Amino acid sequence: MEKNKAVNIHAGHNPDGKTACGAVGLIKESTEARYLVKKIKERLEDAGITVHNCTVNNGTSQSDVLQKIVAKCNQHKVDLDISIHFNSGRADKKGDGKTGGTEVWMRMADGIKKKAGTKICSKLEKLGFTNRGIKETKGLYFLNHTAAPAILVETCFVDDKDDVKLYNKEKDKIAKAVAEAIIKVLND
Ligand SMILES: [Zn+2]
Repeated sequence: MEKNKAVNIHAGHNPDGKTACGAVGLIKESTEARYLVKKIKERLEDAGITVHNCTVNNGTSQSDVLQKIVAKCNQHKVDLDISIHFNSGRADKKGDGKTGGTEVWMRMADGIKKKAGTKICSKLEKLGFTNRGIKETKGLYFLNHTAAPAILVETCFVDDKDDVKLYNKEKDKIAKAVAEAIIKVLND
């Protein structure tokens, strides 16, 4: 019999209204990331995957939020750690007909991280988001400190009207797509 699969998932910041609550544009990163985490978790659990929600709601600063998230993550033995974020920096308040789109960060593009990141980007591309692809960094605390392989999803941009319009219309499909990508790579 195959071993039961398990993942950690969390929203990357404090809740709205608190310090370190993330990006704010036409939508709020903190609120939407929590929404997606809840929906993705339900879908993964429906597929028989054990899911730990490691979201932190009481950080005293961004570094405190991150340390608390990692401490929660490392309490569980999992196949993958997933951090849900939203991007900002487009400043396209009017909409130019082009989404900023999706990118997925990891320390090294290999193994399950590469597979999951690539699949998430291509599934969200099918929903209409620009595929910004997978990206490597050694500079993100979360990616550097989890025991399990870790990815950080920048779902789309909070300050681009095109992204927000598509996100608001398709948020449940986005959650489903991310969950399906994770289910696929866990069962590969
Ligand atoms: Zn963020």
